[in-house]
Amino acid sequence: MRRKIIAGNWKMNQSLAQSESLAREIVTALEAISQRESVDVVVCPTFIALAQVAKAVAGSKVRVGAQDGHWENPGAFTGKVSFDMIRDAGAEYVILGHSEQRSYFQETDETVNRKVKKALAENLIPIVCIGETLEQREADQTEQVLSEQVKGSLKGLAPEQAIKLVLAYEPVWAIGTGKTATTQQAQDAHRFVRERLVELFGDSAAGAIRIQYGGSMKPENAAELLSQPDVDGGLIGGASLKASSFIDIIRAA
Ligand code: PEP
Repeated sequence: MRRKIIAGNWKMNQSLAQSESLAREIVTALEAISQRESVDVVVCPTFIALAQVAKAVAGSKVRVGAQDGHWENPGAFTGKVSFDMIRDAGAEYVILGHSEQRSYFQETDETVNRKVKKALAENLIPIVCIGETLEQREADQTEQVLSEQVKGSLKGLAPEQAIKLVLAYEPVWAIGTGKTATTQQAQDAHRFVRERLVELFGDSAAGAIRIQYGGSMKPENAAELLSQPDVDGGLIGGASLKASSFIDIIRAA
C-alpha cells in the first residue's frame, strides 16, 4: 500500500512574507481536518524562503522541499545551491527535472541523474519529474519519451535507493494550461512508467515507488485522478498557491 503524497510547487512565486503566511495557513487548515496519517504533504517554496517556511511548519505534518539543487559539493559554483544546504535549511524533498527546468534551463536526463544521486546521498527525497510534450504525444512518442526519461534519470540506482524517491508524471501540455490528462491517460502513463520501474528495479521496489500526477490538478479533478490504481499523489502548481484549494486536494487524497 503506497501512501499518497501531495506536493505544492510554488515555482518563482510568493514573497518571503507571503510564503510564510501561506505555509501557516496550510498548517492551520490541515490541523482542522482528520488526516488519519494517510497522506504526505509537502510544500516547495523558492530557495530564498526555504528556511523560513521550514521554521513556520516545524512540528506540523507539512514537509518542505526545494525546486532544484546542484550536484556538486559546496564551492565555486556561482548562483547554485547544494543539496546539503537545502537539507540544512530544513527541507526533506527536492523537485528535480521539472519540465520548466528541462525546457528553459537545459536540464537533461543526465543532469537529472547526477542531481538524483547527490540528493539521495544528502538524505533528501527527490521528486523526479518526467512527461511528454504535446508534439511528442501527437507523434505517438509518449511511451518512448517516458521510457528514456525514466531510464536516464534513474540510471545506476540500486532498488534500495529507488524506493526512496518519488516520480512525478507531468504531461507538459497539461502544466499551467488548465488542460488535464483524462483519468485514463494518466493511469495508462503511470502504469507504463511502473512497468519500466519493474524492469529496472524489480517487482517489489517498483510496487513501492510512488508516482504523482501533475498538470492542472485542482479540487474539481483531484479525486478522480487520485482514485486510479497507479496514481499515488499529485504535484500541484497553480492550485497550491491558495491554501483552500491545496487543502481540498489533500482532502481528496
Ligand atoms: C507543475 O508545475 O508541477 C504543475 C503541475 O503546475 P500546474 O498544477 O499549475 O499545472
